[in-house]
Amino acid sequence: MRCHASDIAVIGVHRRPPVVDDSVVEKVCSVPELVKSCPTYAIKPKRGNPRSVEIDEEKCVYCGICYSLCEGIRIHNPESDGVSLWVGGKASNTRAGPLFARLVVPYMKPEQPHWSTLVKTIRRILEVYRENARRGERMGEWIERIGWERFFRLAEIEFSEKCIDDWIFSVETFRRGTNFKMSE
Ligand code: SF4
Repeated sequence: MRCHASDIAVIGVHRRPPVVDDSVVEKVCSVPELVKSCPTYAIKPKRGNPRSVEIDEEKCVYCGICYSLCEGIRIHNPESDGVSLWVGGKASNTRAGPLFARLVVPYMKPEQPHWSTLVKTIRRILEVYRENARRGERMGEWIERIGWERFFRLAEIEFSEKCIDDWIFSVETFRRGTNFKMSE
């Protein structure tokens, strides 16, 4: 979650459920760990082969947690993967409290090898930040002062209903896994 305290963060995006390789999962992965790891309860022991798992594609949100736990689960897909762009996060300091980064570009498709659209977008954000922010003002502080609507206009980023999660539903989205519930 470190990205949420970043002035600008680029986060990889998966848009397809992982693929399970039974022969690897059976040998090297823990089925209970995998089942427990999924924040949306999409993983369960495989019918007819409880040493492997199956994924409910309707429930999967492509977060990649299971992939990071088990090399028999593969989520990378060069056709559908990409990145999202987040802006305005910071940890607290002596002047002001913390700010969550907000989603400003939900998805950009891969542009190997130079990612020219991503680089152009970040450069534009940095230019308008440099031209408009006050001395010592962090990215998020500057945007909160001028308003997100103005930021999108200045940065020439198209706004969509998917942008700027205000975290109203974070209790639902962050606290569904058993690991979070246990610490409540
Ligand atoms: S990618 Fe995330 S949501 Fe999908 S099965 Fe794996 S842990 Fe669950």
